[in-house]
Amino acid sequence: MENSNKRKERVIPGDELAVIEEYESGKGTHTIDGQIHSSVFGKTKFDNKNKSVEVKGPRSTSELPQVNDQVEGVLENDKTLRIKKINGKISFGSLVGLMAKTKMPNWGTNDYIRATVVSLTNGITHIVVKNDNDDDGVIRSTCNMCADRVVKVQKGVKCVSCGFFKYKKLAADFQG
Ligand SMILES: [Zn+2]
Repeated sequence: MENSNKRKERVIPGDELAVIEEYESGKGTHTIDGQIHSSVFGKTKFDNKNKSVEVKGPRSTSELPQVNDQVEGVLENDKTLRIKKINGKISFGSLVGLMAKTKMPNWGTNDYIRATVVSLTNGITHIVVKNDNDDDGVIRSTCNMCADRVVKVQKGVKCVSCGFFKYKKLAADFQG
């Protein structure tokens, strides 16, 4: 392999890591035709002393969301969702999803939302709040103005205190 100094650090399944003449295939890797590939999403660890390479993924790879899975969590900003649940199950993986651009810039860090995973390109969990999916949308929220409780009204939420209205795509099981 050329570029043997330039090792990838973050890898996805299938990425070439090294050749077996250089390294031994360790945990989280497999070998095809003399090439060591990553089997999981994670970080590479090249052990130059023992000449082995492994990929350390999250505690359990089954915790990673797959395409069409539904994830829930809190928005950290208008693009990043801190994932708390995958398909309704609590996730301990400290994962984030990247919101694909939507036409509704009405999300806020006070929103707990559900979204659908649309791709895992480059090891990033790309998510979208699908307009045609009743389950997707805001599940819990608070008033953008005064942080008080909001109730569901037509096409959005309204604050019980100050009456501030905000358009939001709500999940069918919106809880307020
Ligand atoms: Zn309010």
